[in-house]
Amino acid sequence: MGEAYDDGPVAALRRLAFLLERAREDTYKVKAYRAAAAAILPLGDEELVRRVAAGTLTDLPGVGASTARVVAEAVRGERPRRLDELEQRYGGPQVAGGHELRAALRGDLHSHSDWSDGGSPIEEMAMTAIELGHDYLVLTDHSPRLKVARGLSAERLARQLDVVDAVNDHLGDGGFRLLKGIEVDILDDGSLDQTDAMLERLDVRVASVHSKLAMDAPAMTRRMVAAVGDPFVNVLGHCTGRLVRGSRGTRPPSAFDARAVFEACVEHDVAVEINARPERRDPPTALLQLARDVGCLFSIDSDAHAPGQLDLQVHGCERAEEAGIEPDRIVNTWSLERLTSWARPR
Ligand SMILES: [Zn+2]
Ligand SMILES: [Zn+2]
Repeated sequence: MGEAYDDGPVAALRRLAFLLERAREDTYKVKAYRAAAAAILPLGDEELVRRVAAGTLTDLPGVGASTARVVAEAVRGERPRRLDELEQRYGGPQVAGGHELRAALRGDLHSHSDWSDGGSPIEEMAMTAIELGHDYLVLTDHSPRLKVARGLSAERLARQLDVVDAVNDHLGDGGFRLLKGIEVDILDDGSLDQTDAMLERLDVRVASVHSKLAMDAPAMTRRMVAAVGDPFVNVLGHCTGRLVRGSRGTRPPSAFDARAVFEACVEHDVAVEINARPERRDPPTALLQLARDVGCLFSIDSDAHAPGQLDLQVHGCERAEEAGIEPDRIVNTWSLERLTSWARPR
């Protein structure tokens, strides 16, 4: 008999998924745990106990041999062995620094659900943000032109906003708010890939370049400066687009006049994103220091595509601390009220 465990099987499965996502394991590896959690969630304790005794957990769609073992151990009140294993492998601190700043963050301005290219439903993202101690999470699924990521048309975005309202209604007044947002593509000419009418209805808008990352520097500078000057833009997402490691390989940073772009950010009160994803580390350190010296605001964002990835923010915190950026210049250290009033269209 293992160590005692009384959090129950759903919590065990969710924690396993969280740990794998935080380690940026492939979504398909994580899916087994999320699917099993969803399959057993509606079942009562009695039925679970009965199925464990009869060995019929695997008759449930979404429950396989290894997830059934986790469920059986948790139902018997034993700490699942798989949980011990993954806690040991992935549960420790992700980076040496950044923890003090991470503790000062009150939310996250950049996250994706399964409405675009994320792996989990909106409500699971919100639940995990609450568990991480956030006061707010901005849901920023992609815009229509990013077809590979199932970017949302104006119609789908409108439907998503109703879902966000429903999630907030369901959560009630517990002090957490799921905010309406978008990661809107910056088109070649610097215009935004969503209608003004829809952008108007959002709380926070992150604008990012996802196409033609290798265009020549003068054209890229014009493109980014134009986007930053758009009255709807609040955050300039992963400004160079580089990839430094990871399953998608590497990609060099875009070339542009960073001083001109960051000065435009200061002029228009747009925050420069410190994208916390370890494979991005964007902006690179020299640009981060330039943005600091030019006087930019910053937003430290997880750019999570799965709930566990919401916990990646500390990677960006470590870099911001190293660069000596004062917490008050980081917009997600602000209260919900201050953040949403800052983010209103200019
Ligand atoms: Zn992006
Ligand atoms: Zn994103």
